[in-house]
Amino acid sequence: MAGKALIFCAPSGSGKTSLVKGLLARNGNLAFSVSATTRSPRQQELHGRDYYFISPEDFQSKINAGDFVEWEEVYAGTRYGTLTSEIERIWSEGKDVIFDIDVQGGLNLKKYFGDKALAIFVAVPSLEVLKTRLARRGTESDESFQKRIDKAAHEAKFSNQFDRIIINDDFDRALNEAEQVYDVFAKG
Ligand code: 5GP
Repeated sequence: MAGKALIFCAPSGSGKTSLVKGLLARNGNLAFSVSATTRSPRQQELHGRDYYFISPEDFQSKINAGDFVEWEEVYAGTRYGTLTSEIERIWSEGKDVIFDIDVQGGLNLKKYFGDKALAIFVAVPSLEVLKTRLARRGTESDESFQKRIDKAAHEAKFSNQFDRIIINDDFDRALNEAEQVYDVFAKG
């Protein structure tokens, strides 16, 4: 059934974005909520597909206009937010919406959607594994790297507030588990 919300939360570098992309590739009934952000695009990222990359001034006017369901300053000086228009667009197409969002934002969305939402926490086997994955990805400066590790350690404390925890130890296994979890939720 369409009109539901699947919320994926996890530390940066946990493989959450790849899991979300994998689920989207397997499931035509899911559509991605493209968030707005004030950070710059990484290589390969596209405006309107990965994020709406907007200026801090534009972001502020959208806050003032009440365009966000939720927004967070996820890292000092960098804001991310979920646009009401994205959810409306996806539900009007008869699909379920999937979110890739930070832990606080995810818990806020879970409260907002109530029974219509399933909130999943994607966990890494350990902080050491997370460090290795983030380093291998090579997208972050030293400062940003440390911010992401600190945030991950903090976010892990909230995992028990989620409906499900999926451990991303092996990508294919975790993707299969995520798909099964979604199938059950979508039918319920
Ligand atoms: P990244 O810069 O690595 O793409 O994302 C950083 C963090 O911001 C990730 O945890 C990502 O899930 C989160 N994020 C992305 N979009 C949103 C959003 O709309 N709202 C909130 N609260 N967090 C978001």
